[in-house]
Amino acid sequence: MTNLKKKEFIFEKVNKIKGVGVKLSKYLKNKRIDTINDLIWDFPYSSTDRSNLVELDKLEIGKIATIKVKVIKYNFPRIRNLPNKILCKDNKASIDIVYFNSREGYLRKIFPINKWIIISGKVNFFKNRYQITNPDYVTDIDKEDYVKKIIPKYSLSSGLKEKSYRKIIEQVLDKIPDFDEWHDREILDKLSFPSWKESIKNMHLSKKEINFESKFYQRLAFDEIMSNLLILSENRRNIKKIIKEPKIFNNSYSKKIIKDLPFNLTKDQKKVIDEIKTDQLSKNRMFRILQGDVGSGKTIVSFIACANTLESGFQCALMAPTEILAKQHYNLAKKIFDKIKIDIALLTGKTENKEKKIILEQIKDNQLQFIIGTHSLFQSKVFFKKLGLIIIDEQHKFGVKQRINLAKKGGDNCDVLLMSATPIPRTMMMSLYGDMDISKIDQKPLNRKKIITLSKPEEKINEIWPYLQKELKNKNQIFWVCPLIEKSNFLDYSSAVKKFDLISKKFPNNVGLIHGAQNKNEKEKILLKFSKRKINILVSTTVIEVGIDFPSANIMIIENANKFGLAQLHQLHGRVGRGHKQGVCILLFKGSLSKKAIKRIKILKSSNDGFFIADEDMKLRGFGDILGFQQSGDKFFKIADPIKHSNLFDLSEKYIRNLEKSNYSLKKFNILLRLFDRAEILNSEEFI
Ligand code: ADP
Ligand code: MG
Repeated sequence: MTNLKKKEFIFEKVNKIKGVGVKLSKYLKNKRIDTINDLIWDFPYSSTDRSNLVELDKLEIGKIATIKVKVIKYNFPRIRNLPNKILCKDNKASIDIVYFNSREGYLRKIFPINKWIIISGKVNFFKNRYQITNPDYVTDIDKEDYVKKIIPKYSLSSGLKEKSYRKIIEQVLDKIPDFDEWHDREILDKLSFPSWKESIKNMHLSKKEINFESKFYQRLAFDEIMSNLLILSENRRNIKKIIKEPKIFNNSYSKKIIKDLPFNLTKDQKKVIDEIKTDQLSKNRMFRILQGDVGSGKTIVSFIACANTLESGFQCALMAPTEILAKQHYNLAKKIFDKIKIDIALLTGKTENKEKKIILEQIKDNQLQFIIGTHSLFQSKVFFKKLGLIIIDEQHKFGVKQRINLAKKGGDNCDVLLMSATPIPRTMMMSLYGDMDISKIDQKPLNRKKIITLSKPEEKINEIWPYLQKELKNKNQIFWVCPLIEKSNFLDYSSAVKKFDLISKKFPNNVGLIHGAQNKNEKEKILLKFSKRKINILVSTTVIEVGIDFPSANIMIIENANKFGLAQLHQLHGRVGRGHKQGVCILLFKGSLSKKAIKRIKILKSSNDGFFIADEDMKLRGFGDILGFQQSGDKFFKIADPIKHSNLFDLSEKYIRNLEKSNYSLKKFNILLRLFDRAEILNSEEFI
């Protein structure tokens, strides 16, 4: 093999490995292993000790043993379902080797009568005799050293056996290439990091369990964090290269808007408005994320940003994740921008073709300056004449790749503002939004009361009815969120329907039902009824959109609350208490609570701070669970862990900022990016 080919070996499909055919490839695919590279990141989680050769009088039941025995006699019954047995002996005692569903010819071959052989497997005891059933290894004596070892243990799906997997992995480890080091010698020395190859080998061949603290693991985790942050750095650098036409405005629009608001802006809102303004006035494109808990007042901040852009003669586009939210923003914007005589259009999947055509024409000519909508806004058919600002609300479903494409789509003069209510722990913030500038609203509007959180066992549900009766009389509206039962949409749905029936009986003609199986029209109709107060109780699965504003919905009941993550509960209860009244959230629990569950309720009761809750949530659950990474099936990191390796995140960030100063080329890290499947992110064109 040439040098180049050797290095490419690792990026080949698994069937390039000797002995891996269609069948094994399929088994590996079940393990989500497609390429040889996938294989090397799948570390063993433990090991099996086959290193002690045990004499037959010293066998221990239930343990793995490696034995050296002589084959004495076959017992192959001709009756179906009875196993084949082979009697073996050493100098001390005898043992039965038992096979179900095996072929005689094969057994005769691997168990030659009177020959000494090596067997390894789990010892059991049946009808007063020692036996090993379907042993893991049966080999010639000269292979003793191959079997008599501590052997890495991989999580194997059906069809994959230790023996065949070992053959695969050993071939791969044998051919692991020596890549040119991508890190500077200096940092490797400083952290006493071993080489990549040495680290990979150690992860597979170390006889101990995975040690997250070991230099080998840390080196690889550092690599992975680097691969992630490098992509963000590249995006950041690309954006910084662009020189845009600065926006020119003297705040006349924004002043008019602010003057007529029914409240005073908070200190944080003013601070963020200023940060955005500075970006807008500068020659650099804005690429900024605004983080603020639910109810912190992000919408008005984004409208002021729009006002500035509009005043300087550019167009604005605001995108919401759902039609309902888009509509809500649209209605509010119409009211607010009426004073400065700006026309606004709403463009969603529901907009009629005729109207859509007109809107598209007007956007193209810059006759229309402000447009609010859903994903439809950024389809390829939509052309903006002079787009100066894109705002994306509640964008936490947006990946780096989509963001890069979005930045391209807007054109050089277009500023980008993302808004998110999902509080994310610090290290995740770095890995997800490291290419953006960050603005934060920490302080909520002063008139907002702290939401009261109570918990109740479900058996006491009857105490809730009179309470709801009273709240309805006080003109409050109620959300009733139904249990999240595992991940089944069907169960979610059926339990919501059942609950709807029950509550409808208690409060006739006052209850609506909303769930994921309904189409958008149905959902919208019900939400409209709720907002017009034709119904006052809304039973739902978790589909109630994040960010929806129902000022008189002040009570929320959450069933089976222990099934929700803390951050999710926080998001849910952020939907109540948005008006002037006290918000109340009642968590219903099934059965007795685990210690962890009690701790979680305590955290939730003690704080209304989403960022604090996110950090606590991550500590309690590990990071894999948050942000719905599980749902998407993709793990964001293969091996790095934002909790355990937070120091490596900081190191990596510092290192990259230094590299940026020296105007480094990403090429040097090409292999690293490919190892972690991040190379293609920068070159993609597709959007959403
Ligand atoms: P979010 O940050 O969740 O998007 P919104 O922008 O929807 O929050 O604001 C939630 C509610 O708070 C709205 O009804 C809005 O009118 C109100 N609000 C926003 N800013 C202030 C403020 N400074 N003082 C009082 N109420 C405010
Ligand atoms: Mg919002």
